[in-house]
Amino acid sequence: MTKLNKMALQRITRKDFIKNSSILLAGSSMLSCSSLFAGSQSERNDNNKSTAIGDAFMLKNVRLETGFEYEEGEVIATRTGLFLIEISNGKIKAIQPNNPNANAIDAKGLLLLPAFKDMHIHLDKTFYGGPWQARRKKNRTVGDMITYEQQILPAMLSTSTERAESLIELLQTHGSSFARSHVNIEPTSKLDSLKNLQQALENKKDSFAAELVAFPQHGILRSRSQHLMQEAAKMGIDFIGGLDPQAIDGDMEKSMDFVLQLALDHHKGIDIHLHEGGENGLKTVNYLIDRVNENPALKGKTFISHAFVLARLDKSKQEEIAEKLANARIGIISTIPFGSMIMPIPTLYNYGVDVRTGNDSIVDHWDTFGTGSVLQKANLMAQLYGYSTELELSRCLKLATHNILPLDEKGNQQWPKAGDTADLVLVDASCSAEAVSRISPVKSLIHKGRIVY
Ligand SMILES: [Zn+2]
Repeated sequence: MTKLNKMALQRITRKDFIKNSSILLAGSSMLSCSSLFAGSQSERNDNNKSTAIGDAFMLKNVRLETGFEYEEGEVIATRTGLFLIEISNGKIKAIQPNNPNANAIDAKGLLLLPAFKDMHIHLDKTFYGGPWQARRKKNRTVGDMITYEQQILPAMLSTSTERAESLIELLQTHGSSFARSHVNIEPTSKLDSLKNLQQALENKKDSFAAELVAFPQHGILRSRSQHLMQEAAKMGIDFIGGLDPQAIDGDMEKSMDFVLQLALDHHKGIDIHLHEGGENGLKTVNYLIDRVNENPALKGKTFISHAFVLARLDKSKQEEIAEKLANARIGIISTIPFGSMIMPIPTLYNYGVDVRTGNDSIVDHWDTFGTGSVLQKANLMAQLYGYSTELELSRCLKLATHNILPLDEKGNQQWPKAGDTADLVLVDASCSAEAVSRISPVKSLIHKGRIVY
């Protein structure tokens, strides 16, 4: 983008924004999504306020998937049609036959999909928005990283609200209007990382929603964070986190019992980081499965992030654990790692495990490879596990939308329906399969019936 274009965009006012929203929806390459957010902090806040377009509006020329086309029993294409969609009070009010002459915002034939969800990210600590910085060589282990964090967190906290807002804007440009964010709870940040992130989320509440995990990044027992975790549990968080209970805390059962009890006492879910492999990792997985089965209140609310241990098990053991996870309704959240670590994602899906994904780190001291796109994760999954047909690619979209797909396996339309929350994206693609395969650009995001861009 030229400097001139950028300056012109920064001058877009609230009125212009609304007036131009049909142009924006048309997806002009000059008015790219990210450029809307190119201004300073105050300008960004101003843009944020300007995103509401009113309670009710209509979108015309919206492309929806309507079915599959078959040849010799195989899905060879996805059928689509254009529709008129009425949005009111944050919900889809009606889906009607298209009317090109309707007094409505023109979606210009872009494909409508459910808005995306980033289910594992650390919005509270990022270098994003600041100068480029790669990961340091000396920080090899989780233990090394804890020491490093203790040095850099105080400075990071001074800008963490602003950085979190920038990161939210990045996610939005890639079609996510929801995130599950882990937030550091440890003696260096105390509860400040949480407070700063809650401020950022408050500032963004019209265009973005999140659920929070109290994350004892420096170990619960190791850094004596029990008291802070108990405080955090009373501060509007949704999940109790954990971290490598044997490797970091040195006492798997004691560490996990603390997490489980805190979640039960406060009616929260659980989402632990488990990088540990081998016997220790497997023991933790089995321990969690057993405790969740004993406490059904935790079923459907308990997640293991990363769970690298599953990648190293032999096939029959992977299947056995997948079945137990599905029965206990424990979900697995994976960034879809590749290289030496290939997670058994297809096996997890086969057994009905709730699989979710997220960017985890965008640009921070842990990792700099997150792009902000969960559609890219769906693409990565397709490439890694060989999902290449029209039907297979179309199914991969569920990783980005958390299991909402426009068509079911048989090609019956199941989304959107009148009454659905209007969390929507318009994508420059002809169908879901193409969107996954090409990581098609997201041209518009609508959050609870409000046009974000
Ligand atoms: Zn993480």
